[in-house]
Order: sequence, then C-alpha cells, then structure tokens
Amino acid sequence: MLHAATAPVQHRLARPGDGALRQQARRWLRTLLPAACALCGTVQDETVCAGCAEELLTPLPRCRCCARPLGRAAGPGAASLCAQCRYEMPPFDAALVLADYASPQDGLVLALKFGGVLPLADWLAGELARRWQVEFGTPGAAPPDVLAPIPLSSQRLAERGFNQSWEIARPLARRLGVRAAPTLLARLRDTPAQTTLDLHARQANLQDAFGLAPGNDVAGRHIGLVDDVMTSGATLGEAARLLKAHGAARVTVVVALRTA
Ligand SMILES: [Zn+2]
Ligand SMILES: [Zn+2]
Repeated sequence: MLHAATAPVQHRLARPGDGALRQQARRWLRTLLPAACALCGTVQDETVCAGCAEELLTPLPRCRCCARPLGRAAGPGAASLCAQCRYEMPPFDAALVLADYASPQDGLVLALKFGGVLPLADWLAGELARRWQVEFGTPGAAPPDVLAPIPLSSQRLAERGFNQSWEIARPLARRLGVRAAPTLLARLRDTPAQTTLDLHARQANLQDAFGLAPGNDVAGRHIGLVDDVMTSGATLGEAARLLKAHGAARVTVVVALRTA
C-alpha cells in the first residue's frame, strides 16, 4: 500500500492554476495577518524573515555522504567524505541538510515539534526543495522515487498529534514533484529516547525498531528518508539499512538540521 495519501498530492500537482490560487490566498492572508519571524520576532510577511534565513541557511562544506560539516577549509561544494565515512560508510548514500542543529536555528524545530507551529514545516520543506535543486539538481541526477518520513511511535504520535517528519515530507514531495508515502515505514516498537544513550547503545536500541509496511515494494527504488533532525544518524541509518535489505537501490537522507 504505497499510500492513498499520495494520490491527492499528485492530484493537486496536476490541477492547472492551483498554485496561482494558493499564492493569491497567501497574499490575501498576509495583508490581513502579518507574521512575526519565528526566530527574531520581526513583524513582516514570512514565517522566517529574509535576514534570518540568509544567515542561517548559508551552505557549509559538508561530507557528501552524511552531511557532517567539513570545516570551512574544505571549500564550498568540495565532494569529500568525512573521517567517519572514510572509516565506515553509513547505510544511506547521501544526505541533504539545511544547517547545523545549534542555536538559534534549533528554535525552528523546537517551535515546530513542541509548539505545534506547523507553518514552519512548510517553510523548512521549501528551503529543502531549494537546496535539493542546488545540490542534486544536476542533469542526470535522479530525484527520489518516493519520500518517506521517519515514523513516530504510536504513543508519541498520540501525545503530539502530528509527526513533524511527515509535516515536512508532504510539502517537500509536492515541491519536488515526487510521491510521498506516510506509512512506508512502520515503527514496530517504542524505543527509549535516543538522546539518553551513547552511539553503541543507540544502535542496539534501534534494532528491529522499524518495519516495511506490508505491500510496499522498494526494490530498485531511490527512497528519500525525511526527518526533522539527525543526531548520530543511528535512527536514519537503521531505517536505511531496512530499506536496503528490501532491495532499495539508493537512500538519500533529507533532514532540516544536523548535530555537528
Ligand atoms: Zn528574523
Ligand atoms: Zn560523512
């Protein structure tokens, strides 16, 4: 069941004039309801003001596999691997991130996750789509066949009321013109919070945490795995390992922020 929720996305994409209508509605809303920048509080039209966006989202040289920052000496666009990936490649093939998980931009994810500021997911998706075109938009570079969010446990989902990864994945898929599959991956069991564990314990904690939902065929596909934050990469690595075990040809990790 590559999911039913993908159909309306494609349907919306196919409707001529729909984008123009949405833009017009947004313009009307802005004249009625000016927004405060989620980071600096300046009252203007955008979820995040242009000044904050430019400061936060300046691309850094990053590892081409896991997106760890390589230090400015590496130069922008350097196609290099970090020491960790040279030692052992992660189960995914590439990673796209907007910025490091640090103050003040961590406030974007905190406001989304714990404050329920859902427009931030749409804003992050817009920036990720832009970054995707810059980094992977070269001729011949295939976009993912499908975007899948890292699922929350049912208990966490019930507490929060939404999965922030899906809130980012859905508009990102629309912008990239690819399918989104909210239930491609299933959380098979609840796991203790990763933040309390060291790397080895994180990997053990995650073993068999995910399953491929019945009826999904990922063989030969390029899967985009979406999450809000990558910390050690253990969660995304475990999900990528599962997809590869089911024959996925390529897994690209797409996250808003990454712990440096
Ligand atoms: Zn601002
Ligand atoms: Zn790396």
